[in-house]
Amino acid sequence: MVAEHMPAAVYVGDGEMTVRELAVPTLGPHDVLVEVSHCGICGTDLHLVLEKYARPDSVLGHEWAGTIAAVGSDVHGWDIGAGVVQDEARMRRVPRVPARSVVGVPAP
Ligand SMILES: [Zn+2]
Repeated sequence: MVAEHMPAAVYVGDGEMTVRELAVPTLGPHDVLVEVSHCGICGTDLHLVLEKYARPDSVLGHEWAGTIAAVGSDVHGWDIGAGVVQDEARMRRVPRVPARSVVGVPAP
C-alpha cells in the first residue's frame, strides 16, 4: 500500500531549506513511483540553494536510490520492490547484494 504523504526537502527561498510532508504524486499510466531510501547532495544542489537559483517550493535532490513502490498501468518490465538508482537522466536497476559491514556504517 502506497502512503498518501511523504517527507521532502523543500527549498523555501532566500537560501533556506525545510522538510515538509507532501502528497505522494498520482501515477500516470507511464509513471513509476519510487520510495526513496537514500538521497545525495551534489554540487548542483548546493549551487541551487546557496546561490539562490532554485525556485521557492521546489523539491531538490536528483541523486537517489530506493525501491519501486508502484507502477503505472502501461509500465512493463519494472517490478514493485525492485531496487533502483537515479543516474542523472535515467533510472537503473540495482542488483540485490548481500549486506556488508563497513567501519562506522551500520549494515541495513
Ligand atoms: Zn548531481
